[in-house]
Amino acid sequence: MIIVMQKGASARQIANVTARVEQSGRQVHLSEGEERTIIGVVGDGRPLDRTQFEMMDGVEKIVPILSPYKLASRDFRPQDTLVKLNGMKAGGEQIIVMAGPCAVENREQLLTTAHAVKAAGATVLRGGAFKPRSSPYSFQGLGLEGLKLLAEARKETGLLVVTEVISPETVPLVSSYVDILQVGARNMQNFALLHAVGEAQKPVLLKRGMMSTMEELLMSAEYILSHGNDRVILCERGIRTFEPYTRNTLDINAVPMLKQLTHLPVFVDPSHGTGKWSLVGPVARAAIAAGADGLEIEVHPDPEQALSDGAQSLKPERFARLMEELRAVAAAVGRTL
Ligand code: PEP
Ligand code: MN
Repeated sequence: MIIVMQKGASARQIANVTARVEQSGRQVHLSEGEERTIIGVVGDGRPLDRTQFEMMDGVEKIVPILSPYKLASRDFRPQDTLVKLNGMKAGGEQIIVMAGPCAVENREQLLTTAHAVKAAGATVLRGGAFKPRSSPYSFQGLGLEGLKLLAEARKETGLLVVTEVISPETVPLVSSYVDILQVGARNMQNFALLHAVGEAQKPVLLKRGMMSTMEELLMSAEYILSHGNDRVILCERGIRTFEPYTRNTLDINAVPMLKQLTHLPVFVDPSHGTGKWSLVGPVARAAIAAGADGLEIEVHPDPEQALSDGAQSLKPERFARLMEELRAVAAAVGRTL
């Protein structure tokens, strides 16, 4: 449930309510809005006597949250969450574009791509160092060497860096090299990993599992939020359907649906969502028109030679042209890019 405090409730009144919740063995999560503070009460599901809270000074009302996710819900936080990414904010007016190769392959490949995507207007460089491949015989990523190259590209270009983390034990190592931790579709329900990134001091890009519902995605976000990390960005990257012409079916519905259900920013990955470079542009434009707060796009200087996901990677020139088109779409829906 949530305890909605009156407009202008004092810090002391909020502290009193918080203390009473904690005495009952539940956890408190505060959401401080411009007008009023909302106190989220998260516990083990045992019923709590509402009347004792209703009578406390400064309390306006008690509202049960009916969805299974609590901290991720709009009830808990009606206003959009702005996830700080250094000087930028995901979830606000500015659309954030994360671009780069599927996997970090070598220094030249990464730096060439980093400079190109920066020149085109991307603000975050993506690149996998630990790759969760469906086949054990496919390229698994450069590991630590890849992290070091990402850190070098970050230093050289000033771009922020996002990379995937695939195991709880490596969260501290990956966090020490990059700005944003990516939890991939295959790990969306790796609860030990969600716990670990929940304790990390970094923003998290949480990708929707290819066979997961939106509610399951929000429950995974809830794991991260409830472990103390409120910088969560959701990412729709396509789900499995009966349609074989595309790698996945990008669920465009998820963008406005998630925006209604949650206050968290929603990004779209049109590369994995389609699996074909020729579809990335149209679907990226659709995502922005539908209200996405950001995009994650694969770009490779030589897609034919890419060690992973070449078929869905844009060449830098195509990416630059797409960015121009995206600027126009963003302007049409009152956003900047
Ligand atoms: C990726 O971003 O390279 C990736 C593996 O994405 P997903 O987890 O969405 O498949
Ligand atoms: Mn990929």
